[in-house]
Amino acid sequence: MLRGTFEYMKSVNKTTILNKIRLSGSISRADIARETGITPPTVSSLVKELIRENLVIESRLGQSIGGRKPTLLQLKEDGYYVIGLDAGSKTIKGIVSDLVGNIYDRVEVDIYPNITKEEFLTCLSVVAEQLLGGNKQYTGRILGIGVAMHGIIDVKTGTSLSSVNSGLLNVPIKQTLEKKFDLPVLVENNSRAMTLGEYWFGNESAANRFAVINIGRGVGSGLIEDNKLIHGAHGVAGEIGHASISLEGERCSCGNIGCLETFVTGEAIVRRAKRSIPDAPENLTAEGVYRLAKQGKREYIQALEETGRLIGVGIVNFIHTANPNKIVLSGGVMKSKEFLLPSIQQIISERALIDETIIEVSKLGDDITVLGAAALLLNDLFYCYIV
Ligand SMILES: [Zn+2]
Repeated sequence: MLRGTFEYMKSVNKTTILNKIRLSGSISRADIARETGITPPTVSSLVKELIRENLVIESRLGQSIGGRKPTLLQLKEDGYYVIGLDAGSKTIKGIVSDLVGNIYDRVEVDIYPNITKEEFLTCLSVVAEQLLGGNKQYTGRILGIGVAMHGIIDVKTGTSLSSVNSGLLNVPIKQTLEKKFDLPVLVENNSRAMTLGEYWFGNESAANRFAVINIGRGVGSGLIEDNKLIHGAHGVAGEIGHASISLEGERCSCGNIGCLETFVTGEAIVRRAKRSIPDAPENLTAEGVYRLAKQGKREYIQALEETGRLIGVGIVNFIHTANPNKIVLSGGVMKSKEFLLPSIQQIISERALIDETIIEVSKLGDDITVLGAAALLLNDLFYCYIV
């Protein structure tokens, strides 16, 4: 099996070299030796193995200093493929991606309300089956299947323990798909998978402590340290959406009151705008608040600025507990970034003990979660065998 093929990753040197090549774009054997401190003969023999195993290719694009051009090494981007599945509340979206996030095939199926556990697992299998059967070039070159699922996940057993949206309990995703496809399967919460997607495909790998906060209909977040997703002792590390920022307020999806989520979602923005603006239209939406703010309507600008300050309070708490180098903000609410970001930054500079965290808005599109699901396998291939 493929898993056996990659047993070699137990070699720390080989993993270091593979990642050096991946992150450099292209690099010579001599530079790998110089930059990693691994001896040139070891570099040569391990590179030979990586080429044989279809992970690295040679090219002659290097700058010549007289004489022939040096041979450079590059990652073989399509040497292997991964399948990513994003199980949302209304659809299951699947892709086949190569090792750098190029998408080759995609399938999407709708799931209906009140779906049973068995029907849900069948839907996941159907999407994976269609992707696997889509192209002969994938045969024997699929590393595995990554699944992003909303709700609480036991990542060790790959079980979806509970999901508020679908109401399903204890769904054995990993066990079922591994048995059916004889491929490694990794399952992760959708916000954490999205964080991994942003980390792998949003050029974030320079940040060794990295977080994403997604603000839309809810608030999802994830934290990565030294290339690994952080779960915490009981799986709730980094859940900033449920940070208590008030003793009072609306009831949250988690059952508590005063959670950050209840103040900053699209729905919360509308609720607050309606409360403070006497002539706000009855059918006001979050997009409407943004549109009216864009038209220069002062009260709507203020509603978004207040949202920015509330998000800022959440971020200050996140900085003080997790202290990431960088936080990327994503989700529908961040479409109003021009009104939110100045207030967010203002609160951080007023309240954070150290104001050095880089705050950016995601530039990646709707595929980020499904790419993150695929990246679960990439993280496994490129990093997990180091330890
Ligand atoms: Zn909550």
